[in-house]
Amino acid sequence: MKKDKILVIGACGQIGVELTLALRKMYGDNNVIASDLREEHELLKGTGPYVSLDVMNKEMLHVLVIRHNITQVYLLAAILSATGEKNPLLAWHINMASLLNVLDIAKEEGLDKIYWPSSIAVFGPNSPRQETPQHTIIEPTTIYGISKFAGERWCEYYNHRYGIDVRSLRYPGLISYKSAPGGGTTDYAVEIYHDALEEGSYKCFLKEDTYLPMMYMPDAIRATIELMEADSASIKVRSAYNLSGMSFSPKEISAAIKEHIPTFTISYEPDYRQQIADGWPQSIDDELAAQDWGWKPEFDLPKMTADMLKNLKTQKG
Ligand code: NAD
Repeated sequence: MKKDKILVIGACGQIGVELTLALRKMYGDNNVIASDLREEHELLKGTGPYVSLDVMNKEMLHVLVIRHNITQVYLLAAILSATGEKNPLLAWHINMASLLNVLDIAKEEGLDKIYWPSSIAVFGPNSPRQETPQHTIIEPTTIYGISKFAGERWCEYYNHRYGIDVRSLRYPGLISYKSAPGGGTTDYAVEIYHDALEEGSYKCFLKEDTYLPMMYMPDAIRATIELMEADSASIKVRSAYNLSGMSFSPKEISAAIKEHIPTFTISYEPDYRQQIADGWPQSIDDELAAQDWGWKPEFDLPKMTADMLKNLKTQKG
């Protein structure tokens, strides 16, 4: 078992729950401390230590890091794209201050590794929309994307200037059945499976031909762990790596669901999230992730759909 002591911040969110459980398997239950503003998530209860933490409180975070001899931090707390557009100043404040608090404590305490996710939201309407490359025009138009882009620059700065081993991925929209999504524009691709099983129909907030880059959660967790386990010298991108899983539209996910539930129907009522989606890439080129640390996705749309429906059916009894 490894000697590292890990702090996961935002452990009760869509990614946090599954990532915490995966890290506990690898590093030992007591070596992974879960923390969040919220009450401990049901799935985390009894699986390891949990502390209540507001990452905006730098002093409290610093004390926690020292008291528990933390060597690695996974910072997942953030305000996501759709929620961010409702309160831009709050999203900017939380997304930036949380990262700067962590990076600065990493520098002061000489922490071994930091993980902080970026997003495909860093790209904007002037970026190429198909197979968006790692290095291209990056002019985000949502406050979420702006905060992620600024965060990437800070990560690279702390790596170059202070030698902090910070690593990051530009996640696409993430799809999972264990914990609920937290206010993103790609949340429809999770809701649709729940509604397909519960209602037999779904009202989609994006247009039928809106293609977006997506990834099934087991791939996202594996990518995160593979990136963090890779030899430091092989991590050439210190801002955030492009990461790709699959790309589909609401019409295509609906067709994939119909393969299992032939009576399923979908209707479309686009709202403010359509504009956010229209500014994002439709697919991502993740060649550098493949080249530098061997990334390869496992799940495509049919494989994910079969797995989501099977697991949700079991969950819903
Ligand atoms: P989420 O909203 O589901 O979870 C975030 C968690 O952080 C929540 O449990 C929340 O209670 C907690 N939190 C918020 N403010 C906090 C604070 N001040 N102190 C401590 N905890 C706080 O988000 P997620 O989907 O799990 O995303 C995690 C990270 O991945 C974020 O940085 C997000 O931007 C990024 N990301 C997510 C997706 C996706 O599709 N889910 C895609 C791209 C990037």
